[in-house]
Amino acid sequence: MFIFYIPYFIISYMSNPVYKIAVVRAVRIRNITLRLLQKDLVELKVPKRTPHKHIQDWIEKNRQEIIQSINTLTSKSYFVHLENNQPIQMLDNQYTCLFKYSQRNKVNIRHNLIMFEINDTSNLSKLIKKLAKKVLINFVENISKEIDISFNKLYIKDNVSNWGSCSSKKNINLNYKIIFLPKDPAKYIVVHELCHIVHMNHSPNFWNLVEKFMPNYKLIRKTLRNKYRNIIIQPPQEFINVDKTENIYKIYS
Ligand SMILES: [Zn+2]
Repeated sequence: MFIFYIPYFIISYMSNPVYKIAVVRAVRIRNITLRLLQKDLVELKVPKRTPHKHIQDWIEKNRQEIIQSINTLTSKSYFVHLENNQPIQMLDNQYTCLFKYSQRNKVNIRHNLIMFEINDTSNLSKLIKKLAKKVLINFVENISKEIDISFNKLYIKDNVSNWGSCSSKKNINLNYKIIFLPKDPAKYIVVHELCHIVHMNHSPNFWNLVEKFMPNYKLIRKTLRNKYRNIIIQPPQEFINVDKTENIYKIYS
């Protein structure tokens, strides 16, 4: 999807919270959609040629509904706060995140230190995907050995609609956000996909196999559905403003 530019509209409510709306003009889209990017920031995707005035009027007209949607989305999301020089739990290990301004946009992991070099938080998800690849390979290999089901290749996806999948070539695909889950739910997802190597379906035999390795899997599935359906990664506050800010529009009540 080709993005043309990202202007920000700000809905300001006297002393109430300020909500930022990043408008993304996208090619293959017919309807306006709203997605929570960060705690106070939503992405509003609009058809490519929507005139600026039309967007502004639409936001003004739907102000209450937008705020309500943001609040609903926020209450249903699980936030992972990445802070500079602060610890973060990933799977069964604790790490410290270090952030540095740089044009390089890269991530390195050494012992328990994760070093992000970024110039724009919009690159963060790409870097976390790379990080997830490094962190998940050992995690998946260990589980594979433990339950004695081998796989071919591991792919890390940024598909937000599912946690994982398994192909007939015995390749495992995992959502990069798994690294921010507690160990048991993350392990369940891996066990689930590995069991698909034995049973390429959700038959009773498949579930029996899952249960053999993870007897409490039903409870974990419930937790995944209720608590971790939508994981939002919050970059350090001081890095959020690095985003393109030349197109800021303020709307006051
Ligand atoms: Zn499945």
